[in-house]
Amino acid sequence: MNRKTNKTAPLLRLLTRNETGVITNPIIDEEFKQGVIYVRTPKVEEPEKPQAVEINIISELIGEWLPQTIKRFNGCDCAVCRAEITVAALNEIPPKYVRISEETDFDGIKALKEELRPKVISTLVKLVLRNHNDHRKIS
Ligand SMILES: [Zn+2]
Repeated sequence: MNRKTNKTAPLLRLLTRNETGVITNPIIDEEFKQGVIYVRTPKVEEPEKPQAVEINIISELIGEWLPQTIKRFNGCDCAVCRAEITVAALNEIPPKYVRISEETDFDGIKALKEELRPKVISTLVKLVLRNHNDHRKIS
């Protein structure tokens, strides 16, 4: 068997002839090593792994409603105040965790969000009104 035919494209690309006609491989660098690793790694078709992530619906709602609550009540919208109010709201309202995956019933999540929304908004309004800081004028 001719060994040369076993060489794959990434390796062949790196084999060059010098002036004396001898085949050398002057490029033993990361690209070369990667080529070798690539060639030696058998391609295994992995079955798609199921994906899932956990979220706190309360946290989602706070993120959704804080900007407009601050705007509506003309509160300071700087990063410090937003973080302060977010932390206070997260500490005040018990978390509601759900797992989101491909099989998730998004209508159910939506219904849960709608159920929890008034509590989140009223808490945010209270906290925004309680925040007397105003960092907007500092330049
Ligand atoms: Zn502020």
